[in-house]
Amino acid sequence: MASYLNHSLILGGIEPMTCGSCTQVCPYHLSYPWLGIQNSTNSLTQQEASDELVARVKYLFSNEFLPSLQPLSGHLRAALQREGDLNGLVPVSVMAICDSKLSNLCKFINPKVESNPFLVIPLIMRAAARLSGILATSEGQLWIRRQNPYPREIMESSISQPSGSPQSTLIEAVCIPCSSEKAVETVTLDVSSTGYYLDAISKKLGLTDAANVLVSRTVGKTSSETRLYFAAHQSCMLDLSSDPLTAKEAIHLEGPLNESLSKKGPLNERASYFSGHDIYGDAILASIGYTWKSKDLSYEDVSVQSYYRMLISKIPCGLYKLSREAVLMAELPLAFTTRTNWRGSYPRDILCTFCRQHRLSEPVFSTETTPIKAPSESPACGKKLRVTDSTEEEIEHEKGCARDTVARESAESAVTYQCGVKLFSKCQDLIVECFPKDSFKKQNDSIQNTSLKVLSWLNAYFRDLDMTPEKLNSTANSLEIRFCEKNFSKEFALCRSIHNVYQSETQGAKFLDENHISMPNTLPGQGVFSLNIDGPDSGVCPSNGCLLVISYSVSLVTESGYKKVLESSDEFEFEIGAGAVIPHLEAVVIQMSIGQSACFKMDMAPKEFVLAAAAVSARNLSLLSSKSCCLKYSLTLLRVTEPLEERMEQALFSPPLSKQRVEYAVKHIRESCATTLVDFGCGSGSLLDSLLNYPTTLEKIVGIDISQKSLSRAAKILHSKLSRNTDGNAPIACVKSTILYDGSVTDFDSRLCGFDIGTCLEVIEHMEEDQAFLFGDVALSSFRPKILIVSTPNYEYNVILQKANLSSQEEDPDEKTHIQSCKFRNHDHKFEWTREQFNCWATDLAAKYNYSVEFSGVGGSADIEPGFASQIAVFRRTSPPDEDEHLKDTDSAHHYKVIWEWNRPSTYSS
Ligand code: SAH
Ligand code: MG
Repeated sequence: MASYLNHSLILGGIEPMTCGSCTQVCPYHLSYPWLGIQNSTNSLTQQEASDELVARVKYLFSNEFLPSLQPLSGHLRAALQREGDLNGLVPVSVMAICDSKLSNLCKFINPKVESNPFLVIPLIMRAAARLSGILATSEGQLWIRRQNPYPREIMESSISQPSGSPQSTLIEAVCIPCSSEKAVETVTLDVSSTGYYLDAISKKLGLTDAANVLVSRTVGKTSSETRLYFAAHQSCMLDLSSDPLTAKEAIHLEGPLNESLSKKGPLNERASYFSGHDIYGDAILASIGYTWKSKDLSYEDVSVQSYYRMLISKIPCGLYKLSREAVLMAELPLAFTTRTNWRGSYPRDILCTFCRQHRLSEPVFSTETTPIKAPSESPACGKKLRVTDSTEEEIEHEKGCARDTVARESAESAVTYQCGVKLFSKCQDLIVECFPKDSFKKQNDSIQNTSLKVLSWLNAYFRDLDMTPEKLNSTANSLEIRFCEKNFSKEFALCRSIHNVYQSETQGAKFLDENHISMPNTLPGQGVFSLNIDGPDSGVCPSNGCLLVISYSVSLVTESGYKKVLESSDEFEFEIGAGAVIPHLEAVVIQMSIGQSACFKMDMAPKEFVLAAAAVSARNLSLLSSKSCCLKYSLTLLRVTEPLEERMEQALFSPPLSKQRVEYAVKHIRESCATTLVDFGCGSGSLLDSLLNYPTTLEKIVGIDISQKSLSRAAKILHSKLSRNTDGNAPIACVKSTILYDGSVTDFDSRLCGFDIGTCLEVIEHMEEDQAFLFGDVALSSFRPKILIVSTPNYEYNVILQKANLSSQEEDPDEKTHIQSCKFRNHDHKFEWTREQFNCWATDLAAKYNYSVEFSGVGGSADIEPGFASQIAVFRRTSPPDEDEHLKDTDSAHHYKVIWEWNRPSTYSS
């Protein structure tokens, strides 16, 4: 108790040391080393807190405080420049926001201050009332004034007299009208060098006295001084005469009425949403105030655009868009693939900002580790290699060996990470939790992926605020999220009325006359029209996992030919296939090749995004709602960087692993003297294309895939090759027909039965595991090729790819640990098998359907841990051919669609 008495004395004069974690002095972190006391604030009683509050208020009006460099002293000095009766009156609302010590002390007196910061005001008023003789207050008025003037020398040293005539500064702010129907508009605050800025604001709000203006805590960016200003209403007033210890109750009663205060008007939903507490009547959003850095007033213009940027920054995708400075172009990606491919703020940071924006507690992450099995003992690799001459293959081994040592070292200590996260309200009520089963090699990746799941779910909610609880629940389930409906709707209650962005005005401006439309609505992305792709096809096309660089611009265009650029960039990089841009753009860009340009039109984006993207004049604003305009996108594909898997395979293997796979298959095809071949999951036709470079016995070549895009590329390549080579001497002399089918290799089609050889290179890992099993069954039980070659990545080899990848990136130590962050080599992979898993799959299949199987691979070696980079199984049919013959014709099911077909012109056929 005695020590607290000392405290009060000290608080009156000497400032305690500021703690490291706060920029301001706060009772939570006060320390008084000179007294040997580490202040334990928990022990402050209400009485003690009230006493300290009085001492603090007294100090704030002391001679020492006025010249100090503190936000509040700026207000005190400005108040001394107010004219007439207002001279020296300090609005209590600014005391509450500027001096955190005041509000912290108030929390001990009334803990409800935490959720309603304006409850500080009556407490300060009451403290001032206890200082009669020193301070003057007036019943029902929200200001405090010193009784006696400051000594002259204090005045002179604190307040610099303006030289010459007062200057006036015009500051842009926005008015958020109480009625949501009314648009947010710019207002100009005229702040003269001799005036008090709060007077200028109160005038705008139509109030007579700055003391009746309430000020919110800062909104938007943490560093900004952006606040909301609005009228105090009668319920802010309270019974000042009530005993401080029962004030908790008293302040909820409507106090003696102050005629100058308005009755509580309707709730300003938009302003309340930003500030996190109820605001009634019109509000002004301005960035202005005194700081710790300077005696001068600091300010920044706040535009309507800034308002909309703040508005969309409340939504996960809005935060992401802003971080990419591509509001109309970027989207919150669906997947965190690799850290090197991710652009913009990281999911974890977005989630933390989101929580701050919605006044939730910081997200609580928890990671778990599971040790990975070290690969089984490898033979001593060096010796074996030195016995023979160094062929290219062995050099490859040698490299593999060196890498292998590193790999094994790291594997011994290797663990995988799983991450969970919980979101709590400020009162520590659980709102959302997400515990995904996915595990990652890097802790950071597990955190980013879990964060992204939660963000995706929250984003889905903001996109469709009318979602039924059932739908919200099923979306949550699919993302391994659980949420408490009650707490969730409590925290996000206001969102529904504010963020109607996706519902509003998205229906279209399809005023364009039909003949402008070159590809009407044939795209998967809805609402794209008038698409034009210009320029020669360079053949270099993006595929999933590629990093693309485009230049683009988005303009507002109208029927009458008006055009205004809203957003543009000379270099915008994103990963294709990850949903990192609006789906319309992704749908267009995958049809392009490097060097080509495209333009297309699209329905208006939600107004909030358009207004956040660009400063839009009043005229355009009315256009936006007139439904006579649309957005025009223009872009040029500048560069394409291969997906990580390909980059890795090319950098680490020579020839590149994909080429080695093709060569492996070609070798078997030639040895087998096959006349018919089917390539399951042919993709863009790299194997079929290579085959046409060699003389083979093949007469009929078939490819099948589910990707239309890949098939059309394959068709293009094969077509040009086959139509060039129709003379009898070309390597492809024997080939009579080539067909590409669109279909899934897990579906049966009788036209694929009984081929001499089937290939399926790097395909099964792109299906779910059960589908891969199904493919095995369909292929060997129904298609029954004489030989089937299946390749797939060896999961155990990834550790080497990672290591090697890291050492090539040594320059950036931070990046180094994050290079290969996806679980698998390619984010489209649904699984990657260890050698054991692959062996089991293949051995079981072979036994079941009368095939033999041999294992092999490319990249690395069978004898050196951890085996081949790509593992290969070669199945050979063991049952006599005629036993199978009957199968061919029993079922003439045609489930595949012919995409493209080539037949040798009859003159050339033998
Ligand atoms: N075999 C090619 C392509 C490998 S990429 C090469 O080695 O270059 C994997 C391919 O499998 C993709 O083109 C994908 O579209 C295809 N794919 C995935 N699931 C499939 C399915 N169920 N049926 C047919 N193709 C499939
Ligand atoms: Mg693959």
